Order: sequence, then structure tokens, then C-alpha cells
Amino acid sequence: TALTELLNSRIKDVPDYPKPGVLFKDIAPLLADAEAFGALTRALADRAAALGATKVVGLEARGFVLAAPAAFAAGLGFVPIRKKGKLPGAVFARSYDLEYGSATLEVQCDAFAPGEKVLVVDDVLATGGTIAASLDLVQEAGAELVGVVVLMELGFLPGRERLVPHLGGAPLETL
Ligand code: IMP
Repeated sequence: TALTELLNSRIKDVPDYPKPGVLFKDIAPLLADAEAFGALTRALADRAAALGATKVVGLEARGFVLAAPAAFAAGLGFVPIRKKGKLPGAVFARSYDLEYGSATLEVQCDAFAPGEKVLVVDDVLATGGTIAASLDLVQEAGAELVGVVVLMELGFLPGRERLVPHLGGAPLETL
């Protein structure tokens, strides 16, 4: 589609970052371009509305930059899922394995009111570990997942398959 073409044209491939052999997808040029950033924000907001979301959840850190303006554009509130130790008060926590070591994500226990419907947004789906842990947190915090939207999906990795057991039937969409 025209949107896909526009977004693709603004994402920069950076070889050997952050280490040799990795092709990093840099979204900074997309964010810096008013037309592309606006189109992305509207597309995310449209999905939030179409899926009946009542909150948009962003994953630290680049997910914040996409989810927060989309929440605003859709007239919805925003909820952050953050790396360990950044959120005050009681939190739910999930750890997941990285290539080297592990990472922990957290959400505040009172982030969602009963019956809340959540759209989860992040920039890149790679192995799926980040989103899988986040979906488990949304469920643990008592919200209903209505969808996941990512800007891009690294199709050569099995991220999508890994997420299926965590989606509870909700759609996973890539822009
Ligand atoms: P996963 O947990 O392996 O699916 O990795 C997804 C997370 O890593 C996302 O939060 C992304 O922000 C980040 N990530 C992985 N690969 C890239 C990339 O090529 N560009 C930007 N972010 C990436």
C-alpha cells in the first residue's frame, strides 16, 4: 500500500549495529519526517479505534514514541510497559531470555480499570520475546488484549509463531 511504501522509504538499514552481523532498522528518519510520522500515527490511531481499544500500551522505549501520539489521536489514554525498576508502586513483572542474559519488563498493578481493552504497540517484532512478556503482563494486570500492532516484523525470525500462544486470538498486524 501507499502507507507501507512511505514508511519503508523512511526506515534506514544500518549494517553491523549494535554489533557485527546485525542489520539494524533505524526509525529515526521516519520519526523526523512529518508526513511519515503523521501517517504512521493516524494508522495506529485508526487501528486502536477499529479494534475498540480503551487504552494504548507502548513498550519502552521506541514503542512509547509510536503509542503515545496514537493514543492521543484516538482520544485514548496511554500506558507504559517499562524496563525493571522504572515504575513506582506495585508492579507486575515478567522476565524473558535475551541472546545474552535476560530482561525484565513491568507494568503498574493499577494501570487498567476492570474491563479495559488494550492495543499493544511496538516498533519491531524480532524474536517476539519483548511482546510475549508484555502480553502476559497485560493479561496479569486484568485487561483484555484486542490487538498488537508493530511497525515492522523481521520475517526471517519466528517471532509471529512465538506470539500465537500469548495473543488469545487477538490479531497481530504489521504496518
Ligand atoms: P524481540 O524481543 O527479539 O522481538 O525484539 C524486539 C525489541 O528489540 C523491540 O522492542 C525493538 O525495539 C528492538 N529491536 C530489535 N531489532 C531491532 C531493529 O533492527 N531496530 C530497532 N529495534 C530493534
